[in-house]
Amino acid sequence: MMGETSRVTAFNTSNLRTMPIIVIGALAAVICTIALTGWVLWDSRQTAVSDAFRDSENLATALEVEIRHDIETCDLSLTAVLDGLSLPETATVSPVIRDYILFDHSARAPQYGSIFVLDRHGDLKIDSRGRTPARTNFNQRDFFTAQRDNGDAGLFISNPSKGDNGDWYLMMSRRVVNEDGSFGGVVAGSLRLSYIQQIFSSVAMIPGSSIVLFSTGGKIVARAPMGSNDIGRDISNAPVFKHFPAETFGHYEDVSSVDNAARLYVYRQIGGLPLIVGIGIPKAAVLADWGGKAVFLCSLVTAFISLLGMLGWILNRELQRRGAAERVALESEQRYRLLADHSSDMIVLARGGKRVYVSPACDRLYGYTPEEMKGTAIEAMVHPDDIPAVQRAREEIEYCSEVLVTYRAECKDGHYVWVEASWKKVVECGTGRTDIIIIARDITQRVKHEEALLAARDQADAANRAKSAFLAQMSHEIRTPMNGVLGMNQLLLASGLSLDQRHYAETVATCATSLLQILDEILDESKLEAGMITLETVDFDLAKTVEDAVTILGPRAEQKSLTLDMVLAPAVRGWFHGDPTRLRQIVLNLAGNAIKFTDEGRVGINIAVATETEAATTLRFEVSDTGVGIAPEARSRLFQKFAQADVSITRRFGGTGLGLAISRQLVEMMGGTIGFDSEPGKGTTFWFELSLPRAAAALSAPAVTEQKVIPPNQRRSFDLLVADDNKVNQQVARLMLTHAGHRVDVVDNGLEAVKAVQRKTYDVVLMDVQMPELDGVEATRRIRGLGGVWSRLPIIALTAHAMAGTDTEMLAAGMNDYLSKPFDAATLLSKVERIVVSGGSIRSQEAREDEDNNIASGFDATKLATLRQLTGPTDFEPMVTSFVQALQERVARAVELANEGKLPEAGREAHDVVSIAGNLGAVKLVEVARRLEVDARTDDPDLIRLLAAKLRSETDVLLPKVERFTANAA
Ligand code: ADP
Repeated sequence: MMGETSRVTAFNTSNLRTMPIIVIGALAAVICTIALTGWVLWDSRQTAVSDAFRDSENLATALEVEIRHDIETCDLSLTAVLDGLSLPETATVSPVIRDYILFDHSARAPQYGSIFVLDRHGDLKIDSRGRTPARTNFNQRDFFTAQRDNGDAGLFISNPSKGDNGDWYLMMSRRVVNEDGSFGGVVAGSLRLSYIQQIFSSVAMIPGSSIVLFSTGGKIVARAPMGSNDIGRDISNAPVFKHFPAETFGHYEDVSSVDNAARLYVYRQIGGLPLIVGIGIPKAAVLADWGGKAVFLCSLVTAFISLLGMLGWILNRELQRRGAAERVALESEQRYRLLADHSSDMIVLARGGKRVYVSPACDRLYGYTPEEMKGTAIEAMVHPDDIPAVQRAREEIEYCSEVLVTYRAECKDGHYVWVEASWKKVVECGTGRTDIIIIARDITQRVKHEEALLAARDQADAANRAKSAFLAQMSHEIRTPMNGVLGMNQLLLASGLSLDQRHYAETVATCATSLLQILDEILDESKLEAGMITLETVDFDLAKTVEDAVTILGPRAEQKSLTLDMVLAPAVRGWFHGDPTRLRQIVLNLAGNAIKFTDEGRVGINIAVATETEAATTLRFEVSDTGVGIAPEARSRLFQKFAQADVSITRRFGGTGLGLAISRQLVEMMGGTIGFDSEPGKGTTFWFELSLPRAAAALSAPAVTEQKVIPPNQRRSFDLLVADDNKVNQQVARLMLTHAGHRVDVVDNGLEAVKAVQRKTYDVVLMDVQMPELDGVEATRRIRGLGGVWSRLPIIALTAHAMAGTDTEMLAAGMNDYLSKPFDAATLLSKVERIVVSGGSIRSQEAREDEDNNIASGFDATKLATLRQLTGPTDFEPMVTSFVQALQERVARAVELANEGKLPEAGREAHDVVSIAGNLGAVKLVEVARRLEVDARTDDPDLIRLLAAKLRSETDVLLPKVERFTANAA
């Protein structure tokens, strides 16, 4: 736990530190990006501007060279004229030679005008083109006055002036100096401005740009683009003059006075002449390209910063989340530590089998301090007997995440405490190291309580067993006198009684029967409570089981003039595997209630198949009535013990309030569900659903449970032995049996019974189970132990024990059947007769087995036995022989007809086979013949051929059995 803590803390701190670093880093990156971008933009802008300046300067230089060249060319012409005028011959030669001397070297390119010479008064003396201008005196013109008034004027360039032809010119003049140095006149020439204009216009410029040639005095000489009044316009206030004449060339930025837009300006003086060429470019146009790039770059940077920002935000959020989680972890760790430190349970962190952290609770638990326990092995202090359990836990924790182990541990003072420890494996992420957190608590008190509880439970179990034994005893004790009461009463009823006496005796019978029913219910409930009811699993005929219940309830329904119906869906007919006795009991309970709580109308028992799978069939039983119904408020308590829906109704109808509770428990024991629907005043439907597997016997032996009744005229008297210690019951049994014509001997206990059977041959022994000296079970064992005929002597147990397992115990002891006390005469006699009829008074075990085999293989020997009873031994054999002959003939005929494809005829033969085979007890044969009879109506010759063949093979199987039975009977 300590290790955990430091790990978590370190993680926290690093995270907390990381965050500002990341934020600062991100901010620095953003700032650097912005700064770099700004610098790049600024630099590229400067480059664009300086490129524009440089290009303009280059252009200005080129223009300056061109203009200076033109002016110099013109000046050279003027100088050549001056040189010519200085020659003395010039004055004497003819004008033609003079002009030749003077103007032969003059420039004749179209941009130049004529050169003319003016005298000292400004009068035109010579014109290079021989023309006479309109004006002949130019003494007012600046190019004349400038030379006249200034002997050092040099080359004078005038302001632009319009020629007579309307063209603009730039006049240039030089002074003619006489030999004496006085002013002799002026030689003047001109440069056509349209030529310069043309050059300017031919330059490809950024739109909005301008080229201007202007005089140092601020007059425009030429301009592109040219405005109508541009030439001669005064621009002496233009910003260029802030720089000129300090700098004869240069550039600057300013706002245009024309359109107020920022411009880049370049100017250059033309040589040493009073002319300046200037170029102005709109700054916006210069920066247009740069602007596009700048926008693109800015977008890129913005996107980058946004991305960075987004990443930063995500990172920040993640860090915050982590921070929060870590804070929570830290808090929770602190809380856990607090909990661990203050928990009353001892908390241990074990690593490599050693305790590395022990919470202070160890002091309370073991009396040791945490320091004393730290470093000790997990097994230390564990009681030597419990060390294997702890070691097992250590092995288990390798595979499971959690293990619970209980052991005794020795405290510091030497006494032992019981400890319950919950071990939890924790795997540290990253290292994969496995630690175990152990939470141990003192459960000594709990163990003591549990031991006390176990002792109490054992006592309770013992008490319960005692109660059950008591109940069994009481049942026996009560049933024994009840047998007397009911038996004697029955005998009394059978005697000649007056009407009143009969009424009294009948009332006694009713009351005694009710008492017995109450007794049965209380006993059943006690048995269920004690878990003493075990379900039987035998093959049984469902229809027969339910019919039994209907037969029992029939008289009660009749007494109340109620209709009692039983509707069985065809699919429920057949044999099932389960407990028929308990099933019948449930039906009896529900249907008995239905009859009890119905004054008029009907009670119906419906059985249908809810679902059917290969493994089991879910049967739905419904018992409906048209009785008083059940109030909604009583619904919830109805299946509880001793619960009754309505006290007043119950008072009217009577009852213990146990029937439904018992039914529910039985249904649930069988894995089913039970419930009901009811409408007060209209009636109730109780239902239950059970899943029962179908039994194989259902297909082949539907007749085996048929009651074997001896026709009254065929009854014979048997020699019977009754063994019972109770005098009243002895008397009841004897009277019941002697009344039926049997001869009865009575003995008081098992020992006497064993002796009696050796003295005389009895048809049946009726053996009470609980007797002094030797009980019925032991007596039966001894009789069977005698061997010979005694091993086959029919013994019926008479028992007042209604406890589970009694029947099995009795059958195991060798008894053939049993009868619960109290019994009535009819049941007693039927049991006796049945046991005799089912194979003779002394049936060998082999004979019984043979019969069982027969039944299983489709032959019910009881049919022939009954036939024998009915016909007597003399007529029996010939009758069987005639049956066998008839059967063989019919079967052979059926096979023949089937092979010939005469289906209806074969069906008719099969019909005859059904009745003959039925008399012989040939169950399987009857089944095949019936199928043939039915299927013969369909047009399927192959099937009929097959069934006919089966008919023959079944007959072949049957005949030896019939023969054997007849031989045995003879
Ligand atoms: P008992 O019938 O002995 O009183 P049960 O447990 O069999 O005990 O039934 C409990 C109560 O349920 C009955 O007292 C009765 O009030 C009610 N009850 C059971 N079946 C019906 C029915 N078919 N119609 C009306 N009420 C019924």
